[in-house]
Amino acid sequence: MCGIVAYIGRRPARPILLEGLKRLEYRGYDSAGLAVFNGSIAIAKSAGRVSVLEQKVNGLGGFDGTIGIAHTRWATHGEPNDTNAHPHTDDVSKGHGIALIHNGIIENYGVLKQYLEEKGHTFNSDTDTEVLTHLIGELYDGDLEAAVQGALREVTGAYAIAVICNEQPDVLVVARKGSPLMVGVGKDEYIVASDSSAIVAHTTQAFTLDDYTVAKLTRDSFRTTTVDNVPLTPQIRELEFDLDQIELGRFSHYMEKEIHEQPDSLRRCLKGRTDTREGQVVLGGIAEYARDLVKARRIIFVGQGTALHASMVGEYLMEDLAKIPTEVEFASEFRYRNPILEDGTVVIAVSQSGETADTLAAITEAKQRGALTLGVVNVVGSTIARDTDAGVYLRVGPEIGVASTKAFIGQVMVTTLLATFIGRRRFLSADYVSQLLTSLEALPDHVEKALQLSEEIKDATSRYVERENWLFLGRGHNYPVALEGALKLKEISYIHAEGMPAAEMKHGPIALIDDGMPVVFVATKNSQYEKVISNIEEVRSRGGHVIAVATEGDNAIRKVAEEVFYVPDVPEPLQPMLTVVPLQMLAYHAAVLRGKDVDKPRNLAKSVTVE
Ligand code: GLU
Repeated sequence: MCGIVAYIGRRPARPILLEGLKRLEYRGYDSAGLAVFNGSIAIAKSAGRVSVLEQKVNGLGGFDGTIGIAHTRWATHGEPNDTNAHPHTDDVSKGHGIALIHNGIIENYGVLKQYLEEKGHTFNSDTDTEVLTHLIGELYDGDLEAAVQGALREVTGAYAIAVICNEQPDVLVVARKGSPLMVGVGKDEYIVASDSSAIVAHTTQAFTLDDYTVAKLTRDSFRTTTVDNVPLTPQIRELEFDLDQIELGRFSHYMEKEIHEQPDSLRRCLKGRTDTREGQVVLGGIAEYARDLVKARRIIFVGQGTALHASMVGEYLMEDLAKIPTEVEFASEFRYRNPILEDGTVVIAVSQSGETADTLAAITEAKQRGALTLGVVNVVGSTIARDTDAGVYLRVGPEIGVASTKAFIGQVMVTTLLATFIGRRRFLSADYVSQLLTSLEALPDHVEKALQLSEEIKDATSRYVERENWLFLGRGHNYPVALEGALKLKEISYIHAEGMPAAEMKHGPIALIDDGMPVVFVATKNSQYEKVISNIEEVRSRGGHVIAVATEGDNAIRKVAEEVFYVPDVPEPLQPMLTVVPLQMLAYHAAVLRGKDVDKPRNLAKSVTVE
């Protein structure tokens, strides 16, 4: 969610900052701003796109220094306008000239503001961030690092911040708690950013800041401390992806690119994790906890959005393959409802970014209550990856598209592997697992085949794209796929869509069906096929138009569905990874046909790092 880029070095900061902000655009934002020190601190900010800011900055001049900070804001306190955009400055009357950018929320800004007002501060904006900036200014006594540490000892909430100061023009101070921040280490320069996509063009050496860590960066050295000034030694590591992975290439949108990457994403996710001969799943990341997992009495998946839907598939898989009672919870609800976690409970956090604030909070709660915690995340070294006891990475590569696609498929693949890993140690025979793994290995090719439907799906979508209300229905393992299909459509085309179990429709939502309403069914051949066909009939008899995802060779379904997208036949537990693909393409084409900005959907942020 939103983004930070900061630079100190020997090169002009402005292009590096603007380029970095563009790389972070995918995270979602509503306004942008930047500050560069060039004799004094020059600031430009504006509501709207980074391109608007860029024009403004290029028109203004005075941004030629080699130290600066830049920000994309996703408003939490105060509407998205020029004044509330970051950077914010401290009280000009005090004259230190401190400029700060912030991602997150200062929860106790109200009392701090009152305290500062009593001391004579006046505020320009409605943001919580400006209060933190003034507090730093209030505490500043010639040492920016000390002032930042002091202020952070007083605040509660979440922050990633970067601060510069007129009086110390060779110092950049950054800090984090809760919101992501990493420091790229170059030769005589540092590039700080919310994620590595803004760093990799400059260096592949980086370290992630832990919570409550402050880093003071000069051009040729750095030091990290706690907010109490206790020195820390961060671990510098090699960043794992290169620029190609985050370029658009031949595609028009990241979402389209990532949909089409899915066969390779699955191959990467599977690599080295299946031993078909022995009928074993190999998951190094959780090997140490294999015995606890085998003895687990209950599994709780926590996630939000797409990750929640992947978790729901995980629930079916865990009960099906590992025979362990499993539940799925919105991470945001789990955390605050005083959950009962008996001995033998394993809590699995699913998150693409590994930074989702709600999911992180749920994991913290689960740990405090003694549960074993696992992370199913994509971003290596992210907070959830580090804060859980163990975990399995998705390995699907960076996901830039705000509407998650390849991460979903990766999350389902990992939960399938996890369920099989545990199931094999409990009830599943080597033969059964061997067969399942053979089917799993064939899955990327099947997804490739499904991708060839793109034009057909576009054509069909064009016939319904003007409709404002859609239903998505599925049963069993494909019920979460229906939810995911509806979410995708909502997210990027702003069409109202509901996903639900196909049978649930009869219990109310059927009242919505009128002449020509598009109803999408996942109607592949599986144990509930006949029942789904009955549900299709119920929709048809009320005038709904049926769009079906069906199994190749099922000619009969053409009699009851206006549109049919055929996918290859795969075993029931593995179907979600395939059936979701036509629904992703449907949502994509609907958004493009409606002229929406697929990669920058309104109001959405890629990773939601505030609760
Ligand atoms: N809470 C701050 C604001 O509303 C920061 C929001 C963000 O993370 O961009 O300005």
